[in-house]
Amino acid sequence: MSATVLIIEDDMTLREGLREAMTQAAHAVIVAATAREGLERLRNEEPALLVLDLGLPDQDGLSVLRELRRDGYLLPVLLLTARGDPQARADGLDAGADDYLVKPFHLVELQARVRALLRRAVNTGASDTTSPLVVDPDRRRVRFRDDWIELTQAECAVLQVMLGRRNATCARAQLESALARPGRPAGSNALDVHIHRLRRKLAPELIRTVHGEGYRLVTGDGT
Ligand code: CA
Repeated sequence: MSATVLIIEDDMTLREGLREAMTQAAHAVIVAATAREGLERLRNEEPALLVLDLGLPDQDGLSVLRELRRDGYLLPVLLLTARGDPQARADGLDAGADDYLVKPFHLVELQARVRALLRRAVNTGASDTTSPLVVDPDRRRVRFRDDWIELTQAECAVLQVMLGRRNATCARAQLESALARPGRPAGSNALDVHIHRLRRKLAPELIRTVHGEGYRLVTGDGT
């Protein structure tokens, strides 16, 4: 199965080795040497899989991973790291990684793991890398059902909190604190107004009210 693979790795020798291994496996390859460049290429080119180095010069790979998961990207992520201890592995998986390779590794193993991840992604439907709901906080917009929809700053903030806890209830207090600005606490019904607008802009069924608790973002099949 061929797919577009994004590689974010600052070590040039390793990056070129990875590129070659992925090209050999018939994948289209995009490479980036920094977190910043990698995130930009991810947003613009929507690869099917990401190979992500943990030690990047401008941003820790783990925080890159958390950021893209928070923004709604569902693509499989394979982490590369020099640290193989159980805690480092657990941190990576907790941050949203799908698999983990400790350097040095053999490129044949990388190819096999990429194959497995792509297979799994197809089975779970996550291979649709134009993920159902993707927030672009820099441009304050969300991609939903193949359209980019403009958001206000407040709508964007609320949606990002909910994406971080998709299919779980977000407490009102948690969502309201995303709206508060220094010296300007969110008004009592501000949250409900923003939720109302988000439902109108996206789809009413996407955000459920959980009475007495808060709201829940429901991202089942087809949303
Ligand atoms: Ca590195």
